[in-house]
Amino acid sequence: MAKLLEGSILASKIKEEIKLQVVSLKSKPVLASILVGDDASAAAYVKSQGKTAQGLGVIYKLHQLDKNITEGVLIDFILNLNADKTVNGIILQTPLPKTIDYKLVSECILPLKDVEGMHPLNMGKLFFGRANMVACTAGAVMELLNSTGVDLYGKEVVVVGHSEIVGKPLMLLLLEKFATVTVCHIGTSKAGKLEEHVKRAQVLIVAVGKANLIKGSWIKEGAIVIDVGINRVGDKIVGDVEFEVAQKHAAYITPVPGGVGPLTVTILMRNLLQAIKLQK
Ligand code: NAD
Repeated sequence: MAKLLEGSILASKIKEEIKLQVVSLKSKPVLASILVGDDASAAAYVKSQGKTAQGLGVIYKLHQLDKNITEGVLIDFILNLNADKTVNGIILQTPLPKTIDYKLVSECILPLKDVEGMHPLNMGKLFFGRANMVACTAGAVMELLNSTGVDLYGKEVVVVGHSEIVGKPLMLLLLEKFATVTVCHIGTSKAGKLEEHVKRAQVLIVAVGKANLIKGSWIKEGAIVIDVGINRVGDKIVGDVEFEVAQKHAAYITPVPGGVGPLTVTILMRNLLQAIKLQK
């Protein structure tokens, strides 16, 4: 039976380190959060960020903007935060209203304040193995992998999902560790090849958003399974991997909820401290 990789335990350890660093600063770190409109999932994420920030001594400044805001006004708002020396980090909550181009607007965030690690400059640094701030979910997955003590060198790692916030940055972080990385996506499934790839994964990371996409019987004996997916099924939250069967084959597996999720916000706060160092 697999050992559970619980994000909250790891998050508590990292938070203790963050708290120590925060008290050593001259002034409290300030994280500006921009929430446009009234999306329920974004509002829930904001609440969790605010609570984590408070527990760490970080000032969380929430800016709630009208859903009818124009792209131009939103960009001006961000430019003001860029120029504000009291603000250390900026996070633009998603999803944004359909009238706003996320890529265009998020690129206006000063790279040194981009605590989500999504600015092209920060992504580019990741490409060259010189990342300052790594996309939070990808960073959380790497922390979980690191906590197993398993050396990734030469391991067959399969990532399912190639989004810009999870799969793509992970691919680069895993290559840094000299893992042999295969990235699967919808095209892999459509070609009928997903099972074949998953079955040979010594490390499997899934970030798709489809409940039970990965059958438990596909998991290689002794594999490490990191399930990033969050899906609501009835009144339950489940991941993308068929957990009950998968845990019989894996050596390590993340529960959903309670795996990657609790760590993501912690990595965001760690990025904020990194941002402060860079701003100095
Ligand atoms: P996305 O929609 O941007 O990307 C989905 C990826 O899955 C794409 O690469 C797509 O090609 C692939 N895909 C879709 N259907 C597929 C199929 N049938 N077979 C194989 N691949 C398929 O998603 P995202 O933003 O990366 O999020 C993915 C999941 O991770 C969601 O459930 C999201 O809620 C969750 N998530 C969790 C956290 C966390 O902190 N725990 C953070 C971010 C995202």
